[in-house]
Amino acid sequence: MKSITQRKGIEEIEAMLGSARRVAIAGCGTCPFMAGTGGPKEVVELARTLEERSVERAWSTVLPVACEPLAPEAQKEFSSLLEGAEAVLVAACSLGVRMVADQVVLPVLPALNTLFIGREAEPGFFVEECAQCGDCVLGEYGGICPIVHCAKGLFNGPCGGSVGGKCEVDPNLPCGWQLIYDRMKALGRAEELARIRPYKDWSKSLSGGARRMRVPVPPPKEPEGK
Ligand code: SF4
Ligand code: SF4
Repeated sequence: MKSITQRKGIEEIEAMLGSARRVAIAGCGTCPFMAGTGGPKEVVELARTLEERSVERAWSTVLPVACEPLAPEAQKEFSSLLEGAEAVLVAACSLGVRMVADQVVLPVLPALNTLFIGREAEPGFFVEECAQCGDCVLGEYGGICPIVHCAKGLFNGPCGGSVGGKCEVDPNLPCGWQLIYDRMKALGRAEELARIRPYKDWSKSLSGGARRMRVPVPPPKEPEGK
């Protein structure tokens, strides 16, 4: 999974920091590193900017995978790095912020906005591929998501406004339904698109509180020699 993130504006970060004058910054060595938002370079830059503008001291580290709990040794190292900090800024996706917040008794603040699950279409250019709707229909649309790639999120497209394969809402974007049709045609399944699909069941999406999923977990291994 690539969680695509974007740095928050410095004014917003400063407003969150409030009166905190000593700030530790934790980046993430996976998705934010690839997105250029939370790797070593970015966290050092953020620390420097804050020191130049508003805080007494800012220092940084990069967690290998911020969205995973730290191993006990790494946890100890991280805790010692936070000594003297009045707040922790996390340059990771929202899950990374959550994980750090669970492991630290300090104000933990997001330095990034988590935008979407996407891919790097070309170096430095990220395209959304999934809005995490909770009820995936990629199988019916040749692997192209109509929620993400159609500007109107149509399940029964196209809308009729596409010109030259571009979307009427934003002519810089390909029409998602053109992509779906071309793909389904290439798969010999174009006629399936004539079927009218019912309304999407959005109850599997964001309503009802935090979504949960449980999978079977293999039993713990017996200790050797028993
Ligand atoms: S249908 Fe839903 S889960 Fe599947 S790719 Fe689109 S947004 Fe993601
Ligand atoms: S032009 Fe295509 S992508 Fe744009 S809203 Fe209409 S069907 Fe959707």
